[in-house]
Amino acid sequence: MTPTLIRTKLEAIARNFWWTWHPEVMELFRDLDPALWREVKHRPLAFLARMDDATLDDRARALALETRILRAARRMDDEIRSHNTWGDRHAGVLKVRPVAYFSAEFGVHESMPIYSGGLGILAGDHVKASADLGVPLVGVGLLYRQGYFSQRLDATGWQQEEFEQLDTNLLPLEPALGPDGRQLTVEVNPGSSLVSAALWIARVGRNRIVLLDTDIPSNPAEYREITQRLYWGDQQSRIRQELVLGVGGMKALRVMGIRPGVLHLNEGHSAFALLEAIRQDMQEDGIDFESAAERVAERSVFTTHTPVPAGHDRFPEAMLLEHLAPMCSALGISNSKLMGLGRVDPTSDSETFCMTVLALKLCNRCNGVSAVHGDVSRDMWKSLWPGRKNSEVPIGHITNGVHVRSWIAREMLQIAERRLPADFAMTPSAAVFEESIRTISSGTLWEMHQVLKSHLISFVRQRYVEQEHRRGADPRLSASRVGHLLDPRALTLGFARRFATYKRATLFMRDPARLEKLLCNPERPVQLVFAGKSHPRDDGGKALIREIVELSRSKTYEGRIVFVEDYDIAAARMLVQGVDVWVNNPRRPEEACGTSGMKAALNGVLNCSIADGWWVEAWDGSNGFNIDSPGPHLDPLVQDARDHDALMDVLEQQVVPLFYDRAADGVPLGWIERMKQSLLTLGWRFSADRMVMNYTTDAYLPAARGLSSSTTR
Ligand SMILES: *Cc1c(COP(=O)(O)O)cnc(C)c1O
Repeated sequence: MTPTLIRTKLEAIARNFWWTWHPEVMELFRDLDPALWREVKHRPLAFLARMDDATLDDRARALALETRILRAARRMDDEIRSHNTWGDRHAGVLKVRPVAYFSAEFGVHESMPIYSGGLGILAGDHVKASADLGVPLVGVGLLYRQGYFSQRLDATGWQQEEFEQLDTNLLPLEPALGPDGRQLTVEVNPGSSLVSAALWIARVGRNRIVLLDTDIPSNPAEYREITQRLYWGDQQSRIRQELVLGVGGMKALRVMGIRPGVLHLNEGHSAFALLEAIRQDMQEDGIDFESAAERVAERSVFTTHTPVPAGHDRFPEAMLLEHLAPMCSALGISNSKLMGLGRVDPTSDSETFCMTVLALKLCNRCNGVSAVHGDVSRDMWKSLWPGRKNSEVPIGHITNGVHVRSWIAREMLQIAERRLPADFAMTPSAAVFEESIRTISSGTLWEMHQVLKSHLISFVRQRYVEQEHRRGADPRLSASRVGHLLDPRALTLGFARRFATYKRATLFMRDPARLEKLLCNPERPVQLVFAGKSHPRDDGGKALIREIVELSRSKTYEGRIVFVEDYDIAAARMLVQGVDVWVNNPRRPEEACGTSGMKAALNGVLNCSIADGWWVEAWDGSNGFNIDSPGPHLDPLVQDARDHDALMDVLEQQVVPLFYDRAADGVPLGWIERMKQSLLTLGWRFSADRMVMNYTTDAYLPAARGLSSSTTR
């Protein structure tokens, strides 16, 4: 039996992640069957698998959804095929030879958990924005069959990790097929025998992500495990993953007939791709290693993402040489030459092999992810360019941005879109965006914010009941307590991110008396919503989670401090849309950029942040709150004490008074003014559109044209 027209159209939509940033399309699935949509966790293909043709057609007709479904499918088609994009006008040369964007994680949607945090979500946002803009780009990553973990807390508040097997049939993933109609594979040699990786394609608007998967029957068991889990194994599995990503990724593009004009490495994990690119050039053009390396450097862009030393992958010499022996002989270089590429001082025997150093040496265009991070990176890596002043170290910066449609609330989007031209998504501009924000009235903005806040509170309460239920609590009891969880009128602060120790989630707890005074003032109450995962092997991070959970269960703070389990893209969306203030207090200068605050800003949520990462560029005195503390101190404990004081000062003296300063009708006019200022000054500048435009004009185009400028500064 042939599928009906409605099913065909819905399937076409479901097979492209485009739907994830088109809420009006997601609503079609929800409207067809709200209960089922919840049950399948918002995965359209899983939804369609559960509905037969007759039911689908009946429902679509009964609910008068047919026209909307046909229109949604046509809109997707039009957007994907449009030639009227920014990229058509500005990125022509990339049409023939696109950008290959390598990343160990991609956060496209919560249903495909192959990301752990900011880095992966940035990669997902980069692919989405380049798709909207019509900048030809292919993502290259790994298909982790069990993804990153789901977080559960036990009765003591200690993090437990749970894994679920991805079902590729229920995700918009299709096998990349060869001429014989079979799934393509590539082979990588990590030392002694070959690993095969099968290739998958995830469609993201007009762009694609190629994902490599070693969990196939022809591989021995230990190789099948290579792509099981993200950031889980020891160094040996790490180096194998990185070989599959870098070397396998380059080979994958080749067998798929894709000839990239630019390589962009999102973090050093994929830097082995550069070696494979050199090998391919040597083989194809019969040139030597040095000439090929020069050519590859010319077309390669490297983005470094962290000032934290442990965040840079390093491998001991023996392990590196064992796994790269086949590559080394294919390149015709000696072991010491190879090791030298990953060492700041090539002659030093004591240095381990660093992936960041490899990338910095083999790419002509390198950048950090915010202005301060550019500075910090130049200082951090200056010894690679002896004799140069810091300011001459060829590492620039391109500040991160977030994909607006993925993070903005439906309600806010509607307000903005009414004021924007129809083709804004494909040909956006700062001036048009800002003009549209200026015309939003204070009343409209405040009303919308109240709606989003109530959505957040419902979400938190529902999660809480589920959490308690899983822990075996009496459902009636938890349901009766849930009504006291969060007060819709109270000033609500949000803090959610990975629980890495430098992000200092517990900074606010240093002075219990001062905290109680701030939160429990009956006239001007303040409440806190937390979420975040700790790396599975980071007991320090897990201890921070437990401290907060214990506090949230105490008599004083019950209902006023909540910890939401299992932070992921879905939870992040709710939090950045619904709180009043987004707090960020990392230990300077360890936050390279920080992107969650940008998501908050898009929704009229005010940032209260320490001057690190993006906030140094973003803060203008009136578009949020600055945690004003003196610069970094050599003793981290002194720095923590000072920063705590500064945090409490700004909350007590600025945030709380402004929020509770109400006009006769109960509306906080000064606060709303700041919300507008925040939208106006931050919305466009920290969007992924702006970011991808910067990468295109400052890095991709010069790289593709072989122009020898060496920085993107
Ligand atoms: C945006 C985001 C992050 C990154 O947040 P930072 O502020 O950069 O730490 C991490 N996790 C999730 C789920 C996010 O959505």
